[in-house]
Amino acid sequence: VTSPAQPDAPALPVRPGADEMALAVDIGGTKLAVGLVDHDGAIHARRQGPTAGADGEALFASLAALVCAVLDEGAASGLAPSVCGVGCGGPMEDHGVTVSPINIPQWRAFPLAGRLAALTGLATRVDNDAKAMALAEGWRGAAVGVSDYIGMVVSTGVGGGIVLDGRLLDGAAGNAGHIGHVIVDPDGHRCGCGAVGCLEAEASGTAIAQLTGRPAAEAGPDDVARAGTLVGRAVASVANLLDLRLAVVAGSVALGFGAPFFTAAQAELDRRARLDFAAGTRIVPAGLGADAPLVGAAAVAWYRPDGP
Ligand SMILES: [Zn+2]
Repeated sequence: VTSPAQPDAPALPVRPGADEMALAVDIGGTKLAVGLVDHDGAIHARRQGPTAGADGEALFASLAALVCAVLDEGAASGLAPSVCGVGCGGPMEDHGVTVSPINIPQWRAFPLAGRLAALTGLATRVDNDAKAMALAEGWRGAAVGVSDYIGMVVSTGVGGGIVLDGRLLDGAAGNAGHIGHVIVDPDGHRCGCGAVGCLEAEASGTAIAQLTGRPAAEAGPDDVARAGTLVGRAVASVANLLDLRLAVVAGSVALGFGAPFFTAAQAELDRRARLDFAAGTRIVPAGLGADAPLVGAAAVAWYRPDGP
């Protein structure tokens, strides 16, 4: 799939220094991943482990062990990061100073950035994992050269990050783009956020497992098509609201479902996005695949919308 690159589009301001290396950390509801990402977006010394820990401190200890293993492996190869970028499940407070991931109950208002900075000695920036993925796709993936798009993650949860006019939208506390809590079925299921019928309560891996009684990876064709339809419905509202024409979707559930999921999503999007500017909006798989979370975490560290 080729991206509809806009010739006059401003380059997304992800600006690593020459030969600079980032320590990249991805924190999801199921797994933690850590690696070193170079200025071209290539990943080195990757490690991952389960999001496990009896409480917040134990979970941070699991993460710290992975971070130290990656730093040691990098040092043995002469690779030393100069910054740390983190993508973390949302929501968060104060633009990433503290995090309260809905799918990680051990952390509520947890000072992740400060703790990682103290551990590593690196300047550390934390952003939402789906916003990080959106940056990754605009820097090195399926949205290169596109000024207006939404990046989505359909995985344990459902998240999103929006680039509009070449800038990543933040919102008042940094949570802009949380498409998982757009209502797609007013008569649907109770969401972890407390509302009913959110996209995340209907089409996340967690929701699909609860609704079908088996892991999302074993979902049947009807369940795959339903998830795709509901994702397409949410994207249609975003396209109508924000005048963007591309949705790039990552995450183990969406990418695992593959073509039947994307076909259903596109069909629903075509039905629901009918204004002249929104008609023709496309929904495509992420270009970076499983690399998107760590490349995105590095992009968080190097995102400089206000100049070098
Ligand atoms: Zn919700």
